Amino acid sequence: MTMQQDLSVSPVSQPLPGTGNMPGTADRGGPAQPLLIVEGLTKHFPVRGSMFSREKRVVHAVDNVSFSVPKGKTLGIVGESGCGKSTTARLIAHLMKADAGEMIFDGESLEDFRTVSHKEFRRSLQMVFQDSFASLNPRMTIAETIAFGPRVHGMAAGEAMKLARDLLARTGMEPNQFANRYPHELSGGQRQRINIARALAFDPRLIILDESVAALDKSVQAQVLNLLQELKAERNLTYLFISHDLHVVHYISDLVMVMYLGQVVESGPVERIYSTAAHPYTRALLSAVPSMDPDHRTEAPPLSGDPPNPINPPSGCRFRDRCAFAEGVCASRAPALMQVGKDAEHLAVCHLNDPTSGHSAASGRLSA
Ligand code: SF4
Repeated sequence: MTMQQDLSVSPVSQPLPGTGNMPGTADRGGPAQPLLIVEGLTKHFPVRGSMFSREKRVVHAVDNVSFSVPKGKTLGIVGESGCGKSTTARLIAHLMKADAGEMIFDGESLEDFRTVSHKEFRRSLQMVFQDSFASLNPRMTIAETIAFGPRVHGMAAGEAMKLARDLLARTGMEPNQFANRYPHELSGGQRQRINIARALAFDPRLIILDESVAALDKSVQAQVLNLLQELKAERNLTYLFISHDLHVVHYISDLVMVMYLGQVVESGPVERIYSTAAHPYTRALLSAVPSMDPDHRTEAPPLSGDPPNPINPPSGCRFRDRCAFAEGVCASRAPALMQVGKDAEHLAVCHLNDPTSGHSAASGRLSA
């Protein structure tokens, strides 16, 4: 896998291209433009306290998350269960409302969802979920399922059915054999191909794949991943690929973003993250992945314990209770998102990466 030169995961403080554009006047120009820019995305879920408690408590599901995804690239989002990666995806897809933050899709702000073309955005962004069976209507045939979306958006019935058969063929499913079958007659891998075909029926620009291959056998998983790579190249698709499987993320991603307890802790080009991870959490995750290559084995301290309670996250650095390098400054001050070494695209949130932090082991020890 070669390192891409035009990748960017922007820190919050960087100017956001396209921010000033009004809906309908966006620059739809070159491939270096980000397709999606997310800034300060936040979502807290209220928790009901006891009958006598007046204290308002919230789960910090997503806290001030910022990133951008260039057109035609894949951003892999990794982290333990409950780190906020799926909530981030649902907020971007407007399946739930964010408490704060701004999203810019192809130069158009989605801050007030009513002011942009609702239908156009719904077509441009599609999701493929982990549970391939629950995503399909058991009473519709495969061809009807794929044709349903285009029909809702005004396509003629005959044209929509022809599109469905074409997409079946393109996703490796023989139309004459599968068009009239029902979801329960298919395997998990076949159903996931149908879900991909259904997403393609909208001619989307961004597809969010939320643990989409997690439930598949390894051989089927590899076939579906290769299909996704081919479709991305053919149609200049942009992917947001959410997974807990670091092997899969390494294979498919151009950029990687690591999340911990609702926050981004590290981001950058995939080869940088996998070869010179800067954050102790990322290094611990990578050290847990078996490698056949002795040059790519990480000796980082392993992860211990469970993530802290997201209702009451630790002060300062949220990872400090599990970090082998934690010191007093990690509890008193939250680390900032900073560039790692000389690579402007590689960013991490850790006092070890900041020579001015006051951490005894700092002074760019992790920098390349
Ligand atoms: Fe560990 Fe401190 Fe860095 Fe947090 S800021 S990851 S506790 S060294």
